[in-house]
Amino acid sequence: MSTLSAEEKYRNFIPDESREYLEKLFADFKRTVTIEVYTAEGEHREYNEFTLNICRAFNVMSDKIKLHEYAMDSEMGKKRDIIATPTVLISPEEYDIRFLGAPAGEEGRALVESLNLASKGAEGISDSTKEILEPLEENRLIKIFASPTCPYCPGQAINAFKAAIARPDKISAWNVSTLDNENMAREYNVGSVPHTDINETVTFTGLEPEEKFMLQLLFLKPLEDVIEEQKAAKKNEAKASDTVYEDVDLVIIGGGPAGMSAGIYAKRSGLSCIILEKQGVGGQVALTPKVENYPGFTNIQGFELVEILGSHAREYTEIHQFAEVSDVKYGPRIEITTEEKVYRAKGVLLATGVNVRMLGVPGEDKFYGHGVSYCATCDGNFYKGGKAIIVGGGNTALTDALHLKHLGIETTIVHRGDKFRAEKVLQDSVNREGIEIIWNSQVTEIIGEDQVESARIINKDGTETIKDTDVVFVAIGHTANTELAEKLGVELRNDGFIQVDPTQRTSVERVYAAGDVTGGVRQIITATGQGAAAALTAFDDFTRLFEDTAQTEKNIW
Ligand SMILES: Cc1cc2nc3c(=O)[nH]c(=O)nc-3n(C[C@H](O)[C@H](O)[C@H](O)COP(=O)(O)OP(=O)(O)OC[C@H]3O[C@@H](n4cnc5c(N)ncnc54)[C@H](O)[C@@H]3O)c2cc1C
Repeated sequence: MSTLSAEEKYRNFIPDESREYLEKLFADFKRTVTIEVYTAEGEHREYNEFTLNICRAFNVMSDKIKLHEYAMDSEMGKKRDIIATPTVLISPEEYDIRFLGAPAGEEGRALVESLNLASKGAEGISDSTKEILEPLEENRLIKIFASPTCPYCPGQAINAFKAAIARPDKISAWNVSTLDNENMAREYNVGSVPHTDINETVTFTGLEPEEKFMLQLLFLKPLEDVIEEQKAAKKNEAKASDTVYEDVDLVIIGGGPAGMSAGIYAKRSGLSCIILEKQGVGGQVALTPKVENYPGFTNIQGFELVEILGSHAREYTEIHQFAEVSDVKYGPRIEITTEEKVYRAKGVLLATGVNVRMLGVPGEDKFYGHGVSYCATCDGNFYKGGKAIIVGGGNTALTDALHLKHLGIETTIVHRGDKFRAEKVLQDSVNREGIEIIWNSQVTEIIGEDQVESARIINKDGTETIKDTDVVFVAIGHTANTELAEKLGVELRNDGFIQVDPTQRTSVERVYAAGDVTGGVRQIITATGQGAAAALTAFDDFTRLFEDTAQTEKNIW
């Protein structure tokens, strides 16, 4: 019988399918990264062991990863202000990046990414993040509360790590595992992850696009407030000056995959164009943990794909971020209004995507993050041993219900119809697990004091019940962002998406639509394909409609 050496034992701690990837990643590290692990005997034994094993494994896999192990109450522990066992510090001589709690599951992804980022240093940080954080003068302590089953958590932790690397003199980034830091999670009133706390002054729930995150970190307030203040200031300035106009061939509204791909194709066809995006670039991809079905990338994190798509699009066209289109007016020149200026365009491409559909009932907004959630895999853990209601009848709703049931949560599905739209295998599993289903019913109110306590449910026959629950998970799909389309008089389909022909023309001449806002297969590949097709159609149309310069002058400009 052969006995494994300590080195082999640690190496085997990493599953085969990840080992090869990690070895390759670590081999490309430009600089050595130091890991310090702090543990206290007697507390959180399993978490300590897991953390030591994973860090020892990384250490034996690469000579560019140096590991030091300390007791929490050692001199070093005191010097580093260690407050939890286990705690992992990443290159602590340079940065304050730390993991409080065992980095298991999805948090393990965040750990790997923190090593990767630390190995690159400032070189791995985008110019826009550096620029945003450059004026920061006060210290910032970011705490990202995460859980091992939350696929969105690593993205938000990575935002924080990038900030800590961009401004190590001012910014600390902590990933706090809610699994083994329950008291801290309670103290910070965490009801949904990722939960971000900055300087115990502002909190955010959910994964945010990188630039939005950095701006909020700089201003120490929600971006919506910053934008409102800037709008007010601009309004005052605007009183003194005339409206600013800019003429352009094609205005693309939306900086998701459809808009970015359209920008590339429009510019390459010779059109002048601009992309207007109300948030940071990326659309839903910026909020996607992992993409495994975009050809050319077997497995890529959403934010990485956004960086690649964004920098490719910027090679060709200007992208104005945080430039919301508030109005559109159809005419020989279509006018597209943002806070800053009015664009006059030959054509407009609507690539405005979709938003998560909300219930729109009293209590939903109030309890978001405190018993109302849109991600069961992220937040299910908080309600172990409790009761949950899932609203919906599609694949997501049933998958969520099964996930919660397996966590030991008493789960009820409330569905407005009398049969599910979900795949048969999911329906069979739900039946097998004996999950309660309330058919033909809708949640009409979410009730509680500080936390959800119950939900009002109305049946089609008019009977009303108040059902006790600790959480309401909403899984009822998405709605298309069509306000601007409606202002332009564009025809919509029965299901609310924009009607387009195979070349992405809408019912209104010189108005095109692409991506999720047109319904159908809502994927990155289809959005980029439709964006490209729309730009080429616009080029064809403009050439045909405006080929005679004299006519162009007369009719359009
Ligand atoms: C959690 C999650 C996971 C996913 N996973 C995958 C996956 O693995 N593979 C895959 O192929 N697809 C996946 N998708 C779907 C994919 O992200 C979408 O199909 C794709 O992003 C659609 O691109 P889009 O450009 O049409 O729209 P969006 O990505 O929605 O972008 C639309 C943009 O328009 C902007 N906008 C809206 N109104 C205005 C306005 N008035 N002014 C200015 N800007 C405006 C929005 O801010 C947004 O950035 C996932 C989606 C989610 C939410």
